[in-house]
Amino acid sequence: MTAESILNLGEITTQNSYRCSKQRNLILDTLVESKKHLNAQELYELVRKKRPKISLGTVYRNLNLLQKLGLVNTIYHHGKKRYDGRLETHYHILCVNCDEMTDLEVDGLSDLGIQVDPKTRFRILENGLIFFGICPTCHIEL
Ligand SMILES: [Zn+2]
Ligand SMILES: [Zn+2]
Repeated sequence: MTAESILNLGEITTQNSYRCSKQRNLILDTLVESKKHLNAQELYELVRKKRPKISLGTVYRNLNLLQKLGLVNTIYHHGKKRYDGRLETHYHILCVNCDEMTDLEVDGLSDLGIQVDPKTRFRILENGLIFFGICPTCHIEL
């Protein structure tokens, strides 16, 4: 390999990682801006409006990476994995009618994780405490 081709290789790698980080930022920004709790498919639909050529696989890959980097939170419910761009500890309420998940501000619950952790032999990866209710939209419709 010549010095020149090594240089080119370096350039390609840089370009590639630049493109990757641009895609990653786009995915993260879209999630944060949506202020919603979306699964990969739903987020993909939103990202695709800005970048039509992006693939679902790219969104999945980047979401996994963002999760590993601690830049997104994950919420598991009924086998469905949702992503949340809001990182500080907070709780969620799920509408039992339309499946819409919303942040719920609850006083006095902020140290729940600290109370639970020593009593269990589980390592807590994320707080999965979800409240259930009927959202204002569905409440009006019912
Ligand atoms: Zn609803
Ligand atoms: Zn949230």
